[in-house]
Amino acid sequence: MKALVTGGAGFIGSHIVDELLLQNFDVIVLDNLSTGRVENISDRVIHYNVDLKDKLDLVFAKERPDIVIHQAAQVSVSYSMKNPGFDAEENIKVTVNLLEACVKYGVKKFIFASSAAVYGAPEYLPIGEDHPVDPLSFYGLSKRNAETYIQMFSNTFGLNYTILRYSNVYGMRQNTKGEAGVVALFIDQALRGEALSVFGDGLQTRDFIFVKDVAKANVAACHYGDRKTLNISQGTKTSILELIEELYFNISDSMSPSFHDERPGDIRHSLLSNQEAKHWLDWEPSYTLSDGIQLTIKYCQSHQVH
Ligand code: NAD
Repeated sequence: MKALVTGGAGFIGSHIVDELLLQNFDVIVLDNLSTGRVENISDRVIHYNVDLKDKLDLVFAKERPDIVIHQAAQVSVSYSMKNPGFDAEENIKVTVNLLEACVKYGVKKFIFASSAAVYGAPEYLPIGEDHPVDPLSFYGLSKRNAETYIQMFSNTFGLNYTILRYSNVYGMRQNTKGEAGVVALFIDQALRGEALSVFGDGLQTRDFIFVKDVAKANVAACHYGDRKTLNISQGTKTSILELIEELYFNISDSMSPSFHDERPGDIRHSLLSNQEAKHWLDWEPSYTLSDGIQLTIKYCQSHQVH
């Protein structure tokens, strides 16, 4: 089976590639390296350095993938608020471009990286897939629009799909520049001996999922979860202060937080139910926060720039 992974040089995409290779898929990566890194790509895959806004006929005609796993995106919420047009181009137009190529070249399944951002402020916790969708950012809106296009392509042209809405993903190869996840930022600050920047009182909670579990969910979706929209999360809430405590045990007991004003628009608590994904994908997260943090720290220590 041949899988084409967009964004396969990025944080999550590169782990999906590794998991696909473990399961003997042939893998093609489409990535323009705008935020991804060539060293993330296994030398066992073919990499096309293309922009997904361009015509994709050449690649699809040559490679004829069975499955497309779409991870490439404009991933910054704050950037989307300043550049909604660019965000729509990258997250909606690019998805439609890919969907057209999938229909034209007979792709069997489309797997899409969506986000908890589609839900907006939670009305209740945990958030199930039937929770109202009301994005608070252009990023959440573009992900929601992309989801709707996928469903319309499925209804109109019969394209099979699974949409995966990720909670907060952390792990090896996460960027520490730009709008990085809080785990990557904290580890980076701790290893540099800097204070950890906490916005608000640190009692806000997040649902952190390790990147290898997200990769496994994507590969499970190659076989299961047809025409489903599923949350991919750990299903547990961790406060920022609890996260700091976990890092404190693993990095340094001299680490200290520095508290700043709460950022406008930050959601206080976020927790996604993963019951549907467990049922439909025959998947469950296998790394505890402690396991994942230890692996991430080891990776960051060995890749630290001095
Ligand atoms: P990332 O920035 O590490 O990876 C994105 C990859 O896509 C990069 O390698 C980049 O070079 C490539 N890319 C971007 N635009 C492209 C284009 N026009 N043409 C070709 N390649 C392009 O981001 P990530 O954190 O790995 O995110 C992967 C997906 O998961 C995204 O769709 C993101 O919205 C979604 N997501 C991430 C999180 C998280 O916590 N990281 C949470 C929810 C959803």
